[in-house]
Amino acid sequence: MDTKDRMSEVAVERAELQIQIDAGKSLPVMEAFYTLQGEGNYQGRAAYFIRLGGCDVGCVWCDVKESWDAELHPVKTVEQIVQDAIQEILSDIKAAEIASGAESMEALGDAAGTDMIRGCIVVVTGGEPLMYELGPLTKALHAAGFRVHIETSGAYPLSGEIDWVCVSPKKFKAPLPEVISRAQELKVVVFNKSDFLWAEQHAAQVSPDCKLYLQPEWSKEKQMLPLMIDYVKTHPLSTWSLCVQVHKYINVP
Ligand code: SF4
Repeated sequence: MDTKDRMSEVAVERAELQIQIDAGKSLPVMEAFYTLQGEGNYQGRAAYFIRLGGCDVGCVWCDVKESWDAELHPVKTVEQIVQDAIQEILSDIKAAEIASGAESMEALGDAAGTDMIRGCIVVVTGGEPLMYELGPLTKALHAAGFRVHIETSGAYPLSGEIDWVCVSPKKFKAPLPEVISRAQELKVVVFNKSDFLWAEQHAAQVSPDCKLYLQPEWSKEKQMLPLMIDYVKTHPLSTWSLCVQVHKYINVP
């Protein structure tokens, strides 16, 4: 095959892959890991995170800037992403079972493994996960027995079957009203004083039972925490809760 033929073959492969990505059947995955949820309403709960690559929101303080360029991250099929989640969670459970001398997962059989992950939380995050069609991924996660959460800036339309929608609105690309209105959790990152007003503007758009969290931006935590504690204390009827990034204190990803 000459160079020209090879180049056109690569172009065809790329175009085919893009069709799969556009349909949500394959997605760029920056990383995936099993840990504890460090933030918000499910803080402290075991959760498997799927961090999709790609974000055009451009927060200056973003702590995952390496997620922005989707092309830097391997594209995986939805089936592979779900299999990875099952395998990683089960391997942690299996290691604990073996360490405790309990009956091994093999002895219990495949059904036991499936039961053990039923209802486990999978958090789809990014990057900005709603840049992608999430129907196939969320459907496959549900079929495997997972509970599906999403963490989004709200800048793109919702897609997929999602059990818990956490919207963290960003000034750099405002959230869509239809996404804000579907939020079950509103998490506002406080970087400076003007973020309190930004928080209130978005709290006015969520449903009455949406949980409200103010979270200090990590590099400004020392500076902003006293102001945030005062804010929560002086707005007792607004139902804001202070939320710190617990995973950074307990050194888990
Ligand atoms: Fe970073 Fe999230 Fe902002 Fe995107 S939306 S720039 S990933 S903090």
